[in-house]
Amino acid sequence: MKVKCALCDKIEELPDDSPLAKRLRNRPIHTYLCKACYDRITERTIERLETGKYRVPHRLRNTNEDW
Ligand SMILES: [Zn+2]
Repeated sequence: MKVKCALCDKIEELPDDSPLAKRLRNRPIHTYLCKACYDRITERTIERLETGKYRVPHRLRNTNEDW
């Protein structure tokens, strides 16, 4: 099956019986990322976790109770 990277629009060919191809077919909402973009995202995510800047403030997490 052909898949398009959600970030750079690169078209790649996946073997129909590969685990990733099956997952994409079962969950159409699941976006495909090519290896380069996937690695980039993963690096950024790790950076965020390490800096701790993207933690959800306690105040926002309790929004439902406050209203
Ligand atoms: Zn890409």
